[in-house]
Amino acid sequence: MNRDEIIELDHRHVWHPYTAMDRYFAEDPIVVERAEGSYLFDADGTRYLDGNGSWWVSTLGHRHPRLVQALLRQTESLPHASLAGCTHETAARLASELAQIAPGAGVASLPAHRRLTRVFFSDDGSTAVEVALKMAAQYWAQNGRPSRTRFVAVRSAFHGETVGAVSLSGLPVFRSIFGPLLFDVVHVRSPAEEGGWERAAEELAEVLKARGDAIAGVVLEPLLQGAGGMLPHPAAYVRAAREATLRAETLLIADEVFTGLGRLGAWTACERAGVVPDLLCLAKALSGGLLPFAATLASEQLFDGFRGTKERAFLYGHSYAGNPLGAAVAREVLAIYQDQNVLAQVERSAAQIAQRFAGWGELKGVRHPRSLGMVGALDLGGEGYLGERGWQVYRAARRRGLYLRPLGDTLYIAPALNTAPEILTELLDGVEAALRETLAS
Ligand SMILES: *Cc1c(COP(=O)(O)O)cnc(C)c1O
Repeated sequence: MNRDEIIELDHRHVWHPYTAMDRYFAEDPIVVERAEGSYLFDADGTRYLDGNGSWWVSTLGHRHPRLVQALLRQTESLPHASLAGCTHETAARLASELAQIAPGAGVASLPAHRRLTRVFFSDDGSTAVEVALKMAAQYWAQNGRPSRTRFVAVRSAFHGETVGAVSLSGLPVFRSIFGPLLFDVVHVRSPAEEGGWERAAEELAEVLKARGDAIAGVVLEPLLQGAGGMLPHPAAYVRAAREATLRAETLLIADEVFTGLGRLGAWTACERAGVVPDLLCLAKALSGGLLPFAATLASEQLFDGFRGTKERAFLYGHSYAGNPLGAAVAREVLAIYQDQNVLAQVERSAAQIAQRFAGWGELKGVRHPRSLGMVGALDLGGEGYLGERGWQVYRAARRRGLYLRPLGDTLYIAPALNTAPEILTELLDGVEAALRETLAS
């Protein structure tokens, strides 16, 4: 099929995510024919440097040969088996490996019941969060605290797409349409809001003090809120949230779908912040952009709350839970991090990103340049997610062979963690040129 035929068929049948379709019909889309390392190749021969790992998942570059091999090897013996009453070596090994990189795993003084030793598999970031919510709710229901049914979340948080995950988000743009369907969540001030993290921590502590016995858990994106605008906050806030949840004897749920697995230079943001949550959600980087796969890590204490008679079993499970192909790729992802010291590469690249983004703060029209780990962001206007300024840079960048995807007025990069220094320079130079062109127009 040639490029025009693909577009014609696409226009007739494909409904694109988060896409205003009439606008999409009016623009020439990127038609990705193949991808390799940091680059996407359009069917018209154009090469694009992928500035966001294709929605934050291709964290080791596209088609990493070791991941492709691991996937092919696994297809030869076992592409799928259900985890309902069965098991397989790949899931068992992966669960054990995830427990070893979980925050607190290396902390000798951490009591056994608080260790994140149990792993529940699902399909993507939204389901990893959904699993955590249901686990928390069922835990309290059957362990003597049935009044604990509500969750606390940060206003500008983003936790995914399902009705449960959207309920957690306080962002009007994602939730207002679905308002009548959503369950009631206590939304608190974000540590990134004006007023600072201290006030946000105080408000959270007050809510937990006043209503702790109604609260099933506090859900956070530790250290960096992603889709809510790429907003970092200090580790002290995450630690304060941990202390407040321990005091109220409620659960801390870390949504590390974006921050986990090296994006911020440590295995997890919680580890970097020196915090051990009760539940931790992983997806995106976990399967390196090959196929959907997710895990929710739970403490031994939580797991114990589901033992005993049959009515106590966790009532949850997706068809593809623990899929061997996903598990094999995830194991290889972890092995590549170890063999190639990916976390150290992130530290080096983070310094380069921080320096360049800070420098662009001098440009007229650029606001709030910021960076953390392998993420750099800045604002070009005050319209947020529905703003147009970021899209202007998107177009200018595309003409230069870069693929970016702004969050409205927020322009950001989140490239593969193992991006070579010269390719990172190419990306940053391209962003700067596109930015200057847009600001001058
Ligand atoms: C992307 C994201 C999700 C949702 O993950 P999907 O794989 O898109 O379902 C949840 N939480 C955070 C923090 C995310 O960045």
